[in-house]
Amino acid sequence: MPEIECVPCYLCGSTDWRERYPATIPYEEAAADWSAYRCTSAGYGLHHTIVQCRQCGLVYTNPRWLGGEILHNYEVVEDDLYLQEREGRVLTFRHHLQPLQLVTGPPAGRRLLDVGCYTGVFVEIAADAGWDAWGVDPSSWAVGEARGAGLQVVEGTLASAGFPAEHFDVITMWDVIEHVSNPAFELREAHRLLRPGGTLVVHTMDIDSLFARTMGRRWPWLMEMHLYYFSQATLRQMVEQAGYQVISSAPQGRYTRMGYLVTRVRAFSRPVAWVMGRVVEAVHLQEVAVPINLGDLFTLYARKTPWAAESPAGPD
Ligand SMILES: [Zn+2]
Repeated sequence: MPEIECVPCYLCGSTDWRERYPATIPYEEAAADWSAYRCTSAGYGLHHTIVQCRQCGLVYTNPRWLGGEILHNYEVVEDDLYLQEREGRVLTFRHHLQPLQLVTGPPAGRRLLDVGCYTGVFVEIAADAGWDAWGVDPSSWAVGEARGAGLQVVEGTLASAGFPAEHFDVITMWDVIEHVSNPAFELREAHRLLRPGGTLVVHTMDIDSLFARTMGRRWPWLMEMHLYYFSQATLRQMVEQAGYQVISSAPQGRYTRMGYLVTRVRAFSRPVAWVMGRVVEAVHLQEVAVPINLGDLFTLYARKTPWAAESPAGPD
């Protein structure tokens, strides 16, 4: 069984926290293997103790598996369901690219890096749009899939990938920052790799959204694989501390195929999913894309400021 660790708040350094949501799985019975770390993991509602920093308000999982154990889980993850749901992600990322280019300007061969790119769906869409698009991911299975599709993807983390400093015009992190053991370190690493004035894009869940607050402990994103539950305020603060100026921060949903949505609804209510499934089938809506925006996912855009960030402390 992997070791667990207690961590301080990576936003303000305080160790003064209160329990926000008690653990729903005992540590000795937790899924200490990769099945809980798949992108399409259905482990909604299963998580360790989630605490909130009394000083700055950051919400995070504590205690948790040692950082290295968590990374190892991502290195060995395999997820065929993700490939099946590729369509929904293609649609989501196409919709994400338009507002992104309003901030960054046209691609024109400029260099973009997608962190935690997994099988490279966003890398491919960005490359098709004209970016010199790169990706980095710790999962060797996912990197193999991406490379097989001819994409420029490196296996590893931002710190281990060996990219030169000030190499990229844009760095994106789609649904990644909530998974890493030290998000402040990742943001500083991205800062090192961005050229001055380059753009950082971070998409994650919002624990302070109306939907999250209404759902409370039943909010579906409370999951074992999520180590950080940012709000727009706590993410903005961490990004600014890492040497960026925030350009904008606003809710941004995702797209999914009706057919896939039915399979997800089934996890909550079989009768509702059955009725939905019949309707979707009867009028041939399986392949239709629907926007889902409950206001609990958001995208933050920031610019690397000319002044230097603090020098990175270690990954933990
Ligand atoms: Zn704090």
